[in-house]
Amino acid sequence: MTASTTVSAFGEVDGVLTVGGIGVDRLARRVGSTPFFAYDRHLITQRVALLRSLLPERLSLGYAVKANPMPAVVHLLASLVDSLDVASAYEMRVALDTGTAASRVSFAGPGKTTAELEQAVASGVTIEIESEGEARRVVAAGEELGVRPCVAVRVNPDFAVRGSGMRMGGGPQQFGVDAEQVPQLLRELDAAGVDLLGFHVFAGSQNLSADLIVQAQTRTVELVLALAADAPQPVRYVNLGGGFGVPYFPQDQPLDIAAVAANLTRLVEDELAPALPDADLVIELGRYLVAEAGVYVTRVVDRKVSRGSTYLVVDGGMHHQLAASGNLGQVIRRNYPLAVAGRITAEPEETATVVGCLCTPLDLLGDRVELPRADVGDLVVVFQAGAYGLTASPTAFLGHPAPVEILV
Ligand SMILES: *Cc1c(COP(=O)(O)O)cnc(C)c1O
Repeated sequence: MTASTTVSAFGEVDGVLTVGGIGVDRLARRVGSTPFFAYDRHLITQRVALLRSLLPERLSLGYAVKANPMPAVVHLLASLVDSLDVASAYEMRVALDTGTAASRVSFAGPGKTTAELEQAVASGVTIEIESEGEARRVVAAGEELGVRPCVAVRVNPDFAVRGSGMRMGGGPQQFGVDAEQVPQLLRELDAAGVDLLGFHVFAGSQNLSADLIVQAQTRTVELVLALAADAPQPVRYVNLGGGFGVPYFPQDQPLDIAAVAANLTRLVEDELAPALPDADLVIELGRYLVAEAGVYVTRVVDRKVSRGSTYLVVDGGMHHQLAASGNLGQVIRRNYPLAVAGRITAEPEETATVVGCLCTPLDLLGDRVELPRADVGDLVVVFQAGAYGLTASPTAFLGHPAPVEILV
């Protein structure tokens, strides 16, 4: 992934990067302040359409809200996908505010508090059970409220998915119930009278290898079918997870989505649909739907040369876009694609290091990047900012104001 590949997705007018067809300089005026995040609704819509054209009709598409919980983005996605997956009571509220039926909202994540579980039971969303203790608290909440909880068991598979940027299944995990413990838990939940809808398996995130995703999905289906065979209630929900990665760095190749979709079609048509005719079959995606549709726009506040190295100091930084600084889980720091918004078609003229405004060397947005010349007042954009940006960043660090987010 390079700046030029991303620019062609967003577009440009007279050498200025556009988002939603509007020049970023004009958007900065509209917003009235920098830095800001801008998300392109057309790119999000296009991404969902691509998936719909490749995936089997029988498969539902879910959006994992934590990737980008901006209410306008969640509203847009609610109109495009079939279900929303949330990971906190706040996200549950944003999801339900879109008008999405509670039966189309699922709530996953370890450490759901008793208060959150009560809110989830009261609203009727599907609670994805992460442990035996959580199962007991859900049952208690249902009894207390006089409401039958809707639950699915999140299974920690007996295999790991290789190639995931973040592994969330296999071996010991805080996520999900170990596969071998699931049959016993199902019996207990059934005896307790809950509405036992089915299973959720989410084994990892940010995977760019179609082969590895295909292997994982194939094994997930095997596991789900084995568990379903002696489930005490008919299985009506199977969430196969997702983990589709997006390219962040120059050497990253985009995921071969056609290969993944072909395998899903085979799994759904040959295995899942015949065995579980009443089940809603779901894949849930976060970053794949939104990451590439967002930019983080900053303004150069200082340009300096220190012992021969040129620095562009911008008014944003890791407090808004932690991932681009390399401090959100990267082992080796690499640059996210970035560009000078007003000189998007210009050839690089110099090597500059783009740093944020925080008083720490960690606040590095682009280390020795080839860029056209940028001066004080120019806009510098960081791409791939549509997922795990603002809400995955330490916004209180140094006490600068929060940036605006817009959906264009
Ligand atoms: C975070 C999360 C996702 C989304 O992951 P992406 O890498 O953004 O696709 C999906 N499902 C669950 C359960 C999650 O916790």
